Amino acid sequence: MTSLAALRIPPGIRVFRKIADFRAWRRQILLSGQSLGYVPTMGALHQGHLALVSAAQRQCDRVALSIFVNPAQFSPTEDLASYPRTMEADLEKLAATVTEAAVLVPTIEEMYPCGIPLDVARQKGTFVEVKGFSHMLEGVTRPHFFRGVATVVSKFLNIVQPEEVFFGQKDVQQCLVIRRMIRDLHFDVKMNVCPTVRDPSSGLALSSRNVYLTDTQRPYALALYQALTHMKALYDQNQRHAPTLIEAATAIIDKARDQVRANNCDWDLKLDYISINSPDDLSDITGDISNGCVMSGAIFVGKTRLIDNLLVDVQI
Ligand code: AMP
Repeated sequence: MTSLAALRIPPGIRVFRKIADFRAWRRQILLSGQSLGYVPTMGALHQGHLALVSAAQRQCDRVALSIFVNPAQFSPTEDLASYPRTMEADLEKLAATVTEAAVLVPTIEEMYPCGIPLDVARQKGTFVEVKGFSHMLEGVTRPHFFRGVATVVSKFLNIVQPEEVFFGQKDVQQCLVIRRMIRDLHFDVKMNVCPTVRDPSSGLALSSRNVYLTDTQRPYALALYQALTHMKALYDQNQRHAPTLIEAATAIIDKARDQVRANNCDWDLKLDYISINSPDDLSDITGDISNGCVMSGAIFVGKTRLIDNLLVDVQI
């Protein structure tokens, strides 16, 4: 990362590199009787992140963010090294969104004092697992992902001690994992889930990883959202049988994949999963979904893995 000394920091934004310095700032806010809203991020900020920041500003007196690309949630074969890091642009976007915010940008060494090799078998120290919520859906392709997320969020909740914390519905399983963790570990914080922000013209869910998509791949990346909205349209026409909906959604992804292949692209489009689950415990719904559900999926567009979801007649 660019050293903080070399960064241009816009007015209104305070950047903390050391946890102790952030804590001193936080203590003053507590003493002044103000509430603190907190948004955890990995940076490469876009309108999805900024919507969480705006919600935090509306609901709380003060706003804090963390920007930390968390090694513990990447597998050795994933994109930790190439994950977009755009600190200066992030701070500019933040300053254009809120008049005032604190940004915690801790070092890996301070966050993981025992070190954090990506190979889980070699890791030492304390990790948080949310059993029963982490192994399905995203957890099939990314078996240690939610362990990494739950661990880093619990560290940050201990450091930041916000009154309220803000997450995006875009990562719906993450929301359910964190909600379970907050309840189980008695974190004294109110959790807010904000709606997914999409590209206004195409509907593509905003994601820091969208920058990996080439111009040719971009239109095909929409196949997942189209598959999910098709399921929702069928549901609205009273089709309530989960396997029928999944079949219809899979056909849309298959069609996009066939087009990619017919166009002789040098990359492939692959379905990871399309699933219909209970919003309570993410268990598969294999029959009738009249009581509402989470429709979610993941596809690979070339090397880029994209996720998306719709909440159907439920809130999380
Ligand atoms: P990340 O930086 O990807 O870890 O995301 C940080 C937070 O932003 C998480 O709570 C995400 O769910 C949320 N987020 C990411 N993309 C979006 C989006 N398109 N709409 C709403 N929230 C989002």
